[in-house]
Amino acid sequence: MRWRGERQSDNVEDRRGMPISRGAKVGGISGLGLVALVVVGLYLGIDPATMLQIGQNMQPPSVSTEQNARPAANDDMRNFVAVVLAETEDVWNAAFAKSGKTYEEPKLVLFSGAVESACGMAGSAVGPFYCPADHKVYLDLDFFEELHYQFGASGDFAQAYVIAHEVGHHVQTLLGITQKVTELQSRSSRSDRNKLSVMTELQADCLAGMWAHQADKNRNILEAGDIEEGLNAASAVGDDRIQKRTQGYVVPDGFTHGSAAQRVMWFKRGFEQGNFQACDTFNAGR
Ligand SMILES: [Zn+2]
Repeated sequence: MRWRGERQSDNVEDRRGMPISRGAKVGGISGLGLVALVVVGLYLGIDPATMLQIGQNMQPPSVSTEQNARPAANDDMRNFVAVVLAETEDVWNAAFAKSGKTYEEPKLVLFSGAVESACGMAGSAVGPFYCPADHKVYLDLDFFEELHYQFGASGDFAQAYVIAHEVGHHVQTLLGITQKVTELQSRSSRSDRNKLSVMTELQADCLAGMWAHQADKNRNILEAGDIEEGLNAASAVGDDRIQKRTQGYVVPDGFTHGSAAQRVMWFKRGFEQGNFQACDTFNAGR
């Protein structure tokens, strides 16, 4: 991906190495609401209950100043993230304006180890997530190593896809889709809740594809192999692949994000068509 020298977003909040306030707890939201909020934001196929548990039981890590010293503000990874975020801002500002709406740019919080969000406290283990309650994307840069070594998805565009997917959840929130899904889920069976979650996640994949389409049109950001990197990443984090890796077998009913094939299909669709209409995962089956 071509990114060096491009504009960097001012919306990166660098909290790496910052201690978490002691006694921090899952605040504000409770019960189902929190579960629903959490499930929307999760990028990986982790049961929301796990995240809640993480949120509730986690002790703030002891901070050793040496180990957690704030990395140089100009490090390469941070710059890359800031450029990708800026590219999403350009694309979504324009796309919203085109349909007579105003895009409100999200913040992206970089953290290390654990972080407190309006959706609760989260550890790095949950992977990158978006919190609809504070309109922020949360990212521990170590996840990119995990993406590479554990999920076998390497390359800068694989990382850009992850960011674009989370920003996709922000777009869904601004459009009121997240809220509608949360409301529907609150009166659905477990299996229907999961189906709604899958449709939400696939739509975020499609919106990531739509972003890639527009960003490439604006600035030729794509290099040879980039789309393959994105597709490979989308496939690697499919529920079937994750279930197989973590539990050795696949339970389609337990899917919350969609299979590898579905995630690839929707990312591709968004990329090829490049518009909102292409990403209506909710009515696709009808
Ligand atoms: Zn997601």
